[in-house]
Amino acid sequence: MMDDFPLLLSTLYDRAVRLFPDQQIVSIESDRSLIRTSYGQTDERIRRLATALDRRLGVSQGQAVGTFAWNNQRHHELYWATANTGRICHTLNIRLFAEQLVYIINHGEDQVIFVDPDLAPLLAPIVSELKTVKTFVVMGEDASGCGLPDAIAYEDLIADGAPHGAWPQLAEGSPHMFCYTSGTTGDPKGVAYTQRSTYMHVISNLATVHISPADNVMPIVPMFHASAWGYPFMATTQGARLTYPGPDLSAEALVPLIESERVTFSAGVPTVMLGMKQYLETHPNADISSLQAFLCGGAAVPRSLIEWFWKAQGVRVLQGWGMTETNPVASVALLKPHMMDWDFDRQLDVMETAGMPTAGLQVKIVDDEGRRLPEDGEAFGELLIRGPWVTAEYYNDPRTPESFQDGWLRTGDVCKITPEGYVRITDRAKDLIKSGGEWISSVDLENQLMAHPQVMEAAVVGARHDKWQERPVALVVTREGSEVTEPQLLEFLRPHVVNWWLPDRVIFIDEIPKTGTGKFDKKVLRDKHWEVLSG
Ligand code: ADP
Repeated sequence: MMDDFPLLLSTLYDRAVRLFPDQQIVSIESDRSLIRTSYGQTDERIRRLATALDRRLGVSQGQAVGTFAWNNQRHHELYWATANTGRICHTLNIRLFAEQLVYIINHGEDQVIFVDPDLAPLLAPIVSELKTVKTFVVMGEDASGCGLPDAIAYEDLIADGAPHGAWPQLAEGSPHMFCYTSGTTGDPKGVAYTQRSTYMHVISNLATVHISPADNVMPIVPMFHASAWGYPFMATTQGARLTYPGPDLSAEALVPLIESERVTFSAGVPTVMLGMKQYLETHPNADISSLQAFLCGGAAVPRSLIEWFWKAQGVRVLQGWGMTETNPVASVALLKPHMMDWDFDRQLDVMETAGMPTAGLQVKIVDDEGRRLPEDGEAFGELLIRGPWVTAEYYNDPRTPESFQDGWLRTGDVCKITPEGYVRITDRAKDLIKSGGEWISSVDLENQLMAHPQVMEAAVVGARHDKWQERPVALVVTREGSEVTEPQLLEFLRPHVVNWWLPDRVIFIDEIPKTGTGKFDKKVLRDKHWEVLSG
């Protein structure tokens, strides 16, 4: 029957190449050169790559192909060559520690690793510990001197050999991508994205966020983590132009690229946007007027950031929430039609939430006993989620049962749900600060602090306290030349939070440590400042 037709990514792909062969893909390479190509030209390369995976590299359907690479053209080709042929693209997070990398490569049983030339030195020291990798492919024209044994060059690999013909009819439940969580505690856990799951994720997200063939999409969020939030798949599905920014994710590189390529849509974590804001404030002639929307998430997006981009640049910052386990985008903070007439401040109350679940997903909040809590914007508890692109298990991992409850994924995020149905993240469970038995949201405090004009970044963590168990301590990075003081910042916070939430200490630091995915690394900060209030 018609309704049994499998949900395969190759069908989205074939349509896009057929209808938009001349659509451009722009890519910044490891050597900072710019490659300009098209869907049609790329198709030829993807088909040669697909043949090479099979005949030259001996990777069977269902086996994993590791990638250790930036956001670029060849990475895009690997995404599609694997998806279209039933192989698994195992995107390796280049920022993991060596032992975590060894663990995930062996756990995923990667047969080959494709590596960008400038990243090869990071892999070289662990080669002897990799149990299943037979070949290394350097993503460029030359593999000599890369330090990896018997490496071949990508361009040689695809130079000859017949282009792949019609794509195979796969089972929609077959995996096409492995993504591992960053594993802040214990070994990383693997999630296998299936054809069906990514297909549904693409369709639902395209119904949520407007991307059309007239758009130019620049995924800043790394392709080595959670499939760049699915944008390579979404943009291709819509036949949109794609711009891959390569290795340099500084605002100094990104803003001129947005300007010269006339990027219309982009996505990334708040730290990237904070950097862009700072750059734009000091470069008033920079012109990012082509940029209409920016999906920002992965960590709480400061209200002040959303406000600034809208007022100063006309850029709509759409906050998204998601996890590796949810393929990954699961909610987006869009306004409903009746909110369009609200004043901006009231709209910001909505835009600063993690948003409403995208079509196809179900969410609820529960208390410690797993009982459902009311969605009144007051009660808070752990967020649970389920749906066609929420994983049902960790790949080959005995830790699965801890994270699921009656078919729902336990997110570890503590949330409220408003009467309008928007999810408001209070904190990650492990980041909540427990003061004298009452919870304090570090996210709320950070948000308020980052609204101060002299504050660039702020993170709030719990520190041990003799009387209250834990009290909040704020770590603050100020703008260059700022002379703002601790009492001034506390005064700034006072009207916005209850008295007992005010941090016991404000510590000025040079930089907030970041995780492998560019989020504030609260664990490092907590470990470092845990005793700062004692003695
Ligand atoms: P990790 O950060 O551990 O590598 P993920 O990338 O899967 O793993 O991160 C998922 C987590 O990121 C969520 O559980 C949530 O805590 C946080 N997160 C994502 N988006 C948002 C958001 N918009 N606001 C607050 N937290 C967010």
